[in-house]
Amino acid sequence: SKPIVAIVGRPNVGKSTLFNVLAGSRIAIIEDTPGVTRDRIYADVEWSGRSFTLIDTGGIEPDAKDIILSQMREQAQIAIDTADVILFLTDFHQGLVDADAKVADMLRRSHKSVLLVVNKVDNFVKDEAGVYEFYNLGIGDPHPISAANRTGIGDLLDEVLKDL
Ligand code: GDP
Ligand code: MG
Repeated sequence: SKPIVAIVGRPNVGKSTLFNVLAGSRIAIIEDTPGVTRDRIYADVEWSGRSFTLIDTGGIEPDAKDIILSQMREQAQIAIDTADVILFLTDFHQGLVDADAKVADMLRRSHKSVLLVVNKVDNFVKDEAGVYEFYNLGIGDPHPISAANRTGIGDLLDEVLKDL
């Protein structure tokens, strides 16, 4: 079976937007799992002659006591456990927040290969310097993208293939 790449991060960082960009029209399976709050969504992605299965997740709020948010976190943990490579999305507009550091801790414990992605870098030239802040997560080089503008996507996919 194909290697699995999971998109994780806090709610609203742009995970589903990136998923849709990467999935394009090639969404293979949309799986409804009864009893879960947010369904995991799967797509087959092809790049440079290779393919992998991409999983979108609902989002992780590390400290949430709320039942829905804690179920979303459990679903994300299942995706993390299943994945070969994890795309850890953060939000350039919000900047680095404490919850990102907690998600980074969760990901370190998984011992999976993690690519740190800084989304919403809509103006690469203007925003580039601000991306360096994300090195402080201690989880590797930040990869700037704009899922909305579809920029940085090819470079990101090249990095994913190196880790598969
Ligand atoms: P998710 O909760 O992580 O799945 O985030 P969504 O994909 O639902 O996106 C949350 C919000 O961020 C939406 O309003 C998107 O339009 C917006 N968004 C996603 N990607 C970008 C981006 O690259 N730039 C900007 N400016 N907004 C974005
Ligand atoms: Mg989403």
